[in-house]
Amino acid sequence: MMMMSFTNTTSTSASSSQLASSQRITMRGGQASNNLVKMRAQHAFARENRRHASSLVVCAGTGKFVVGGNWKCNGTKDSIDKLCASLNSGKITADVEVICAPPMVYIDRVQSKLKAPYQIAAQNCWVSKGGAFTGEVSAEMLKDANIPWVILGHSERRSLCGETNEFVGLKTKYALDTGVKVVACIGESLAQREAGDTLNVCFAQLKAIVDCVTEKDWENIIIAYEPVWAIGTGKVATPDQAQEVHAGVRKWMSENVSPDVASKVRIQYGGSVNAGNCDELATKPDIDGFLVGGASLDGEAFVKICNSAAHSK
Ligand code: PEP
Repeated sequence: MMMMSFTNTTSTSASSSQLASSQRITMRGGQASNNLVKMRAQHAFARENRRHASSLVVCAGTGKFVVGGNWKCNGTKDSIDKLCASLNSGKITADVEVICAPPMVYIDRVQSKLKAPYQIAAQNCWVSKGGAFTGEVSAEMLKDANIPWVILGHSERRSLCGETNEFVGLKTKYALDTGVKVVACIGESLAQREAGDTLNVCFAQLKAIVDCVTEKDWENIIIAYEPVWAIGTGKVATPDQAQEVHAGVRKWMSENVSPDVASKVRIQYGGSVNAGNCDELATKPDIDGFLVGGASLDGEAFVKICNSAAHSK
């Protein structure tokens, strides 16, 4: 993979987006002014994207391609055993790191069945030390059970369980401090994309994490960009749409954390990735892997997605 650098290091994106959002607050009264604000935000977003495009010299991270399978709340002992058998019999030929996230109750079972190169992740953990938190699982428990990864901030937890950016930031820090590596999910809703707020939303989600962690912590964080409108909908982002956001995220990381972290941090794309669309997505220079939901329940398809790493630049 290539290195990324930019000719322009001043943050134009934040200023135009901040302008748009402050206008939204001050002009709340009335549909007409809302439309006006929306239009201005869209123009600002377009301007911002033109600036991104003109300032981008070369793209891409330097980390190893990494594919995650988020099994969500699916499976039975029987179906999980079959999936493990199918994954074990598939041939992973590409240079790729692979992380499977089974439902919590089956983690131990999956861990005892899956062979290398598969690693295990939990789909969530608590924000602090365990105790009187009914239904939760602590990072200490994950560590004790030799589970090296946890997915945090998935859009389903944000929208269904009310997890805020700040909460996800705190969870990320706690998991890292406990010795559990984090796949941190970010991504915009359809309404936010249509309002021209995609990068703004992603940056706010990232900032809440950046505010909690150290520069060194980024060695143990993967960013998963998952547009909410593409998750489980069959509506995949085009390779160019995904690349545009990934490049924007990397630029933001360069300006707000460090160029070194920006080049090393891996940015996965997630949202209706399947065996048919993975190869083309993988060619994009800022896509360093995938986080896969539905298709990760099909062993053969998932192995094919893992092997799309061979197409990465
Ligand atoms: C996900 O839930 O992380 C996901 C990307 O789901 P899907 O692949 O089904 O869109």
